[in-house]
Amino acid sequence: MLILFDVDATLITTSRTGIQAMGLAGRAAFGDTFDEHRVEYAGRLDPLIIADLLSAHAQPVSPETVEAFRAGYRDHLSRLVVEPGMARPCPGIVELLDAIETDGGFTLGLLTGNYPDTGAIKLRAAGIDPDRFPITVWGCDSPHDPPAREHLPAVGFTRFRERFGREVSPEQVLIVGDTPHDVSCARAHGCRVLAVGTGSFGTEHMPDADGFFDDLSRTEEVLDWIRTTLAQPLR
Ligand SMILES: [Mg+2]
Repeated sequence: MLILFDVDATLITTSRTGIQAMGLAGRAAFGDTFDEHRVEYAGRLDPLIIADLLSAHAQPVSPETVEAFRAGYRDHLSRLVVEPGMARPCPGIVELLDAIETDGGFTLGLLTGNYPDTGAIKLRAAGIDPDRFPITVWGCDSPHDPPAREHLPAVGFTRFRERFGREVSPEQVLIVGDTPHDVSCARAHGCRVLAVGTGSFGTEHMPDADGFFDDLSRTEEVLDWIRTTLAQPLR
């Protein structure tokens, strides 16, 4: 069984330094009128966020312009996110990851809108080793154009097969996330989904989730929910 965690506002908070870094990268490239608040961030893929930021400022969107913006974003993020107090795990995450590993019945994974380099920078800044997740699916991993989060669970199934030499069926996959995008990408593939209220969305925004916790700090309760839910037939 595979548990795929979203990163921002699910595993960790980075005190919005990611958005701040997007703004600094944009102003460095395009001048002081660049406004990073013109686009949506929560639960979206970084390649789409950057494309939207470029479009919103009348800049061409091409692999080259996206790559240049991404490099500036990475430089600013690397500096901002390691400042004291900026990055930290969400409540109970360290204990939950430890408990899942100890249980032994689950494979840990990531399914996130972040690029691999900046996603790893954020996780390390929050004290979480990205290497503890054998399966990783990043925001640039969609095989389709335009990319969408809904494409990513299938990439996770493939990576699981490549790594372990056996299939994982969708109902044996749990996606954990803080936004309606996390819920819809799970639903698109018949995966289970646990929504968590550590971002900007409450249970009322994610009615299609199999479960909702305000945060993941009640380790045993969360782990019991995971075991029970993955053992049940699909509803
Ligand atoms: Mg998130």
